Amino acid sequence: MSAKAGRVPKGRTSEKSAAAPEINPKATKFKLRLAYSPIHRWGIYAEELIPKGRKIIEYTGERISRKETKRRFEAREENYLFTLNSYWTLDGAVGGSGAEYINHCCEPNCFSQIVNEHILYKAKRDIQPGEELTIDYRFDKDVETVICKCGAAGCRGTINLKE
Ligand SMILES: [Zn+2]
Repeated sequence: MSAKAGRVPKGRTSEKSAAAPEINPKATKFKLRLAYSPIHRWGIYAEELIPKGRKIIEYTGERISRKETKRRFEAREENYLFTLNSYWTLDGAVGGSGAEYINHCCEPNCFSQIVNEHILYKAKRDIQPGEELTIDYRFDKDVETVICKCGAAGCRGTINLKE
């Protein structure tokens, strides 16, 4: 898997922080809750048991080109960009389902799967009520290094992959 998921924290402000974040109820079949996260700003929490392998939520957003992705990445303090393929990126800041608030963790309980150009977040294991949903953003080692503070025993120290 080579997808680079999620937000790129570069500062404290973002275009999106002004609006109250929310989860699109049509994007998920599970009861989820948005709340402050010890990992980073907002996070998403399970409010019921999510069995291993089940689809939790689709990552949605505006479909933008490589060139536009680069422009937004450089223009904003905080981004919600998910690389769909070698050309398209989804910008969760525009039309995001709420999945863009799922934080990075080096030992996550979710994984992403791209099916017919849809980005699906699924449960990597059984997720208990009250657990924060996390996914490995797998930032490329060649982009700006982002220090990881996920707190997992196996934290690799950066959100970027080592190789
Ligand atoms: Zn980590």
